[in-house]
Amino acid sequence: MTRALTKPTAVLRDGKSLVAAGLIDQGARAEADAVARRYAVAVTPAVQALIDPTDPADPIARQFLPSSAELKNQPDEDADPIGDDAFSPVKGIVHRYPDRVLLKLVHTCPVYCRYCFRRERVGQGEAPLSTPEVQRALDYVRARPDIWEVILTGGDPFVLSSRRLRDTITALDRIDHLGVVRIHTRVPIADPDHIDDDLVAALSADKAVYVVIHCNHARELSTPAVAAIRRIVDAGIPVLAQSVLLKGVNDDAASLEALFRALVRARVKPYYLHHPDRAPGTTHFRPSLATGRTIVDGLQGRLSGLCQPTYVLDIPGGHGKVPVAIERAAETGDGAYVLRDRNGHLHDYRDNVDNVDNVDNGS
Ligand SMILES: *Cc1c(COP(=O)(O)O)cnc(C)c1O
Ligand code: SF4
Repeated sequence: MTRALTKPTAVLRDGKSLVAAGLIDQGARAEADAVARRYAVAVTPAVQALIDPTDPADPIARQFLPSSAELKNQPDEDADPIGDDAFSPVKGIVHRYPDRVLLKLVHTCPVYCRYCFRRERVGQGEAPLSTPEVQRALDYVRARPDIWEVILTGGDPFVLSSRRLRDTITALDRIDHLGVVRIHTRVPIADPDHIDDDLVAALSADKAVYVVIHCNHARELSTPAVAAIRRIVDAGIPVLAQSVLLKGVNDDAASLEALFRALVRARVKPYYLHHPDRAPGTTHFRPSLATGRTIVDGLQGRLSGLCQPTYVLDIPGGHGKVPVAIERAAETGDGAYVLRDRNGHLHDYRDNVDNVDNVDNGS
């Protein structure tokens, strides 16, 4: 297979363009088109540049190039794997936890990840929220003082024009009871040049704005991506990362170590490592939970704490996220514990009796 020699400039969305770019063989074209008819496909120039088409196990290709395995559904898979729909009181809002809501303004992304947990919704032609719909969603937030944080997600909020983004951030900034506006995006990886001065200026607010990038492999942190992240951080906006544990992409200790170190070096704090959700046609991406727990446990204590995200699973059916790492502290009763250190050695720990009191856990 030969690689197109010119610098890629177009977003690839079907078998024909993927073949022309040298990313898939002619023989895989029909299959790619069959997948593209079912789920959105988009491979940006920045992502094309990361793919090594001579490597059949390329971890970037695996995340973005369609595969016929996506057309196989398993009985445990669900079009709404984390139960968003049941928690959507008005269009665009998902309100599952008391203090925070998702605000989904758009249902498109610059790239489409083959394991996407919202693949039945994103890239399926659903229009962005209209101006009145955005107003109704903002009214919902305004009317509820318990909401402390609004998380812009989708779809990718950074596909909005800087003007619309700025208007939304400004409207949120004016809601007194909000403490934080968080934005989930893959744009710094998928289209780093899009993070320009206008976009960064649109994020300026009196409230804390956090950006959470989605990044799964150290190689995604290209020079342009790191520069894009730097522009955000230099504007005083903390950047965190969420990663998904994916079979054939990063499901080994060395890949995760390289990823988390590369993120921290790029000024990004790894926030969550997600166990993949049971979205349709994504079985080939899901390691067992036992495998995930063993891999993650191996990182504990070996890497800087800065490089340790929380390993979480979204409980199918809408029950929320839970940490799923192997426990290193086991309660043995009466304030006594056994703690397991990074070398596997066990240590007793006992609370001072004066410290054993009733705990108010807020619930
Ligand atoms: C993941 C998620 C959040 C954010 O949860 P954090 O643990 O605060 O990152 C908020 N609302 C919904 C519905 C979610 O799925
Ligand atoms: S960026 Fe997020 S929402 Fe968009 S395709 Fe990837 S996983 Fe799905």
